[in-house]
Amino acid sequence: MSHIHGKDTKPELWVRKYLYAHGFRYRLHVKRLPGRPDIVIRRLKTVILVNGCFWHGHTEPPLPSPVEDERGGVHCKYFVMPRTRVEFWTKKIERNKARDLEDREALKLLGWNVIVIWECQLNQTEIREQTLRSLVLTLSQIELDNAKSRRPAVKRYQLEEMGETSYSLVADDSDTLEETQ
Ligand SMILES: [Zn+2]
Repeated sequence: MSHIHGKDTKPELWVRKYLYAHGFRYRLHVKRLPGRPDIVIRRLKTVILVNGCFWHGHTEPPLPSPVEDERGGVHCKYFVMPRTRVEFWTKKIERNKARDLEDREALKLLGWNVIVIWECQLNQTEIREQTLRSLVLTLSQIELDNAKSRRPAVKRYQLEEMGETSYSLVADDSDTLEETQ
């Protein structure tokens, strides 16, 4: 079970280091914003959320290296439900996911771009470099959009599989509260 929880986790530090090396300046765990986002780039009105796969319930698109559980469900290999107190953990993770969704929605309403990066997209060395490169590309794109328009569209980005071994951050606007109701 992966216990990536809280501040200054290893995946978060990788992201921070990479951003800094590429000239991006940020603030951390900003209390005034919904969900205290991990990394906040105010100049680009963008937050980056580095999610631990267990705590934030990485049960969606099997990316990367998915595993199949005994019930045939496919999920991230870092999301492993503990064998004991299953009900407690299931409820807890579901609550976390619901709160994450609310936070993302609130950020969007406040005009912030939201980039979500999962622990598994950084932990696996063969993917980390692509994830980070894609992140910097996306930030540059946001910078361009901001320069072009006074009111640029607010977007949410997720890493997606573009080919068997290729991953890229793509804008995803399907993630709204209505959809889960
Ligand atoms: Zn994951």
